[in-house]
Amino acid sequence: MRVAVMGGGMAGLCAACQLADNGFEVELLEATEMLGGRASSWRDEDGDIIDNALHVFFPHYLNCLSFLEKVGAEPLHWTHGMSIYNREGLRGDLPMGGGLSGLLQAFSFSTMSPLDQLSMSYAILAAAFMSDLQMEKADELSLLEWFRRHGMTRTAIDHFRPFGAGLTFLELNRVSAKSLIYWIRSVQCLEFFRRPGIGFANGGLGEIYVEPARRYIEERGGRVHLSRPVSGISIKGAKVTGLRTADGEELQADVYLSALPFYELRRILPEEAFDYRYFRDLFRIDDAPSVSVQIWFDRFVTDMSYIAAQMEGVFNCFADLNRIVPRFAEGARGSMIELVLTPAHHLMPLADERIFRMTLEELQAIVPECAEAEVTKWVVVKKRQGVFAQQPGADKYRPVQRSPLANLYLCGDYTRTFISAGMENACASANLAAGYIIEDVQDRQVKLFSKPRYFTPWLRRGALAAAAVGALLAARRA
Ligand SMILES: Cc1cc2nc3c(=O)[nH]c(=O)nc-3n(C[C@H](O)[C@H](O)[C@H](O)COP(=O)(O)OP(=O)(O)OC[C@H]3O[C@@H](n4cnc5c(N)ncnc54)[C@H](O)[C@@H]3O)c2cc1C
Repeated sequence: MRVAVMGGGMAGLCAACQLADNGFEVELLEATEMLGGRASSWRDEDGDIIDNALHVFFPHYLNCLSFLEKVGAEPLHWTHGMSIYNREGLRGDLPMGGGLSGLLQAFSFSTMSPLDQLSMSYAILAAAFMSDLQMEKADELSLLEWFRRHGMTRTAIDHFRPFGAGLTFLELNRVSAKSLIYWIRSVQCLEFFRRPGIGFANGGLGEIYVEPARRYIEERGGRVHLSRPVSGISIKGAKVTGLRTADGEELQADVYLSALPFYELRRILPEEAFDYRYFRDLFRIDDAPSVSVQIWFDRFVTDMSYIAAQMEGVFNCFADLNRIVPRFAEGARGSMIELVLTPAHHLMPLADERIFRMTLEELQAIVPECAEAEVTKWVVVKKRQGVFAQQPGADKYRPVQRSPLANLYLCGDYTRTFISAGMENACASANLAAGYIIEDVQDRQVKLFSKPRYFTPWLRRGALAAAAVGALLAARRA
């Protein structure tokens, strides 16, 4: 049974590995000269690792972490804290202990008053224990609105902003409350208690998982084609009959899996596909861009061994990768700081040099040591940036992995699972799509997809049971 996988990003690679494992003959078509898509890295002419962007992993990334393990990627480096710089350059360090207690402890920011801390703790608790139904409803609201309804103070909201913008590339007034509450809720799942922290790749993503994944597919008889963009999909009735590639060739398979970004998929679908609302909805979702900057210094300018953020400015999250994962910045003499610039619509037309200067100026304002050091190299990356814009109300337009065409499936971080866009959703959607393909074609069920184990339902059941016992005891006494 032959399956054509379109797109060699994390979702395409993960799905291809699962399908190769389950007896499918995999043909993977990738448009560019490298695999990994947005979660990738490469080496420049100096031999330095250039990251497509700063990527961090979380303990509840079950699908993503098991994909990395399956292909034999190097174990991640787990860090246990984060720092935040306020407008005056004052740094608050947040330890990250086990689960919710750790998170609440983390919110005792030195840069917030007790009232701000209280308001943030209350909102975080309310978010962490929301039910699935409440989460669905929260998609209609912006996070800013949701925080205000839950009494969060302005200063507390400002402290959350860089993490929200760093995770979703949108301002809090533009982002769905659901998409960020998902991240907050993850702190009350079992995996967060087991391994609280934030994971970094122990080197460039291109080296730690992309090459192992390619080998994994090829060792199982799959073929990986680089620089082979799919330029069209042919349909007859309710079935895909083949793909056209930009080099003018036709490719036929039994099953087709799109792991393309949504804007690419809608570009190559034939007109008749849009008879289905499922495909028309691809025009209702949008992209939120970002810019990534790496700066090398001639000496160490920070002592930070975990991720940091600044409350307001052109960049939000940043990390000194030569402190955190020295293998990433092999050969560097000092700090190598990587920064995430989001939201970035306004930055896209600017020249790289201008973006670098603005970024450095802001960095020097909060980390004065940067002003004393010499910048030995900088790189601005604008290509392959952006994630699906998780705006209020957009979640319902995300397609599920089974399409209305009998042999076409979709995966990728924008497709719908129970979570927001990111590497975990790329892998979760890949596992779901591969599971559906196996079920539909081989008529057997395999469990490839995992969901974190949340405590909320148990706490609810516990509260209900306690209320029932209380009522029983009260009735007996009466
Ligand atoms: C700046 C930045 C920071 C991020 N940080 C994090 C983070 O810290 N944590 C996290 O979990 N996630 C993060 N993400 C999100 C994460 O990178 C993505 O969710 C994930 O990589 C998406 O994988 P994908 O396979 O769905 O899509 P992609 O990576 O976009 O893969 C799609 C692939 O399809 C290929 N393609 C496109 N058109 C065609 C065509 N016509 N024919 C064939 N192939 C084609 C592309 O070249 C690409 O390789 C970040 C993203 C960015 C941009």
